[in-house]
Amino acid sequence: MIRLRNVSRSYDMAGHLAVLNNVDLEIGDNEFIAILGASGSGKSTLLHILGLLDNENTGQVEFEGREVTRLSDDALTELRGRTIGFVFQSFHLIPHLTVQENVELPLFYQKVSPTRRRELASQRLETVQLSHRVTHLPSQLSGGECQRTAIARALVTNPPLILADEPTGNLDSHTGAEICDVFKQQHAEGRTIILVTHDESVADHAHRIIRIADGVIVEDTQKTPGDANPAPTTGPERTDGPQ
Ligand code: ADP
Ligand code: MG
Repeated sequence: MIRLRNVSRSYDMAGHLAVLNNVDLEIGDNEFIAILGASGSGKSTLLHILGLLDNENTGQVEFEGREVTRLSDDALTELRGRTIGFVFQSFHLIPHLTVQENVELPLFYQKVSPTRRRELASQRLETVQLSHRVTHLPSQLSGGECQRTAIARALVTNPPLILADEPTGNLDSHTGAEICDVFKQQHAEGRTIILVTHDESVADHAHRIIRIADGVIVEDTQKTPGDANPAPTTGPERTDGPQ
């Protein structure tokens, strides 16, 4: 699905801050990946490159066999809208739109007819069990309901790839576990899920763990979900043993 070759990213600040260093990564269809690492290690930067939100990197990024590094902004927006749904820690809902309207928004930008928009958004709100909240505003929802609205919005265009940056970071552990169940269900339906988290219990649901430190992938492990001691398949041994 996605292949990064020798990808580096730096920010042109005083001192020229290098954030990702020569990252090589392949992501296949229907994977369930957790990206773990300390704050500032480059997780969000990597997710933005995978999600075609940032193309200021060096190296190659291939998406479904196409080199995307030099696509125009319009072509990138079109590809992103068709293939990727995003979920963020702080939900990014539009405060003055209802739950239903927030979920319809990506379809509005894709010029889908109002009738079809309503139909697809209602289906997705059913998927995340929010059919009873459609006329609520985000301010009238719990954190878990806000995140389920955001997931319904990410799913409404039926993308094969869902990227989520610390999706449970603002939620209590019980609500976070419910949100993990929604991602598991979407993975079971054939989508690729990539979650950034620093919560090991969230990462435990994934089938592949990618650990990043100072902009470098230090572990890339296939695992059985729930397996506490997976064997690394590539990369150096993890150095941060069980706490
Ligand atoms: P993580 O998500 O792992 O916490 P990020 O990818 O957000 O890390 O950031 C990695 C590093 O890059 C941090 O040191 C951060 O301060 C820096 N950084 C991120 N975004 C920017 C930006 N837009 N401008 C300058 N520095 C940035
Ligand atoms: Mg981050």
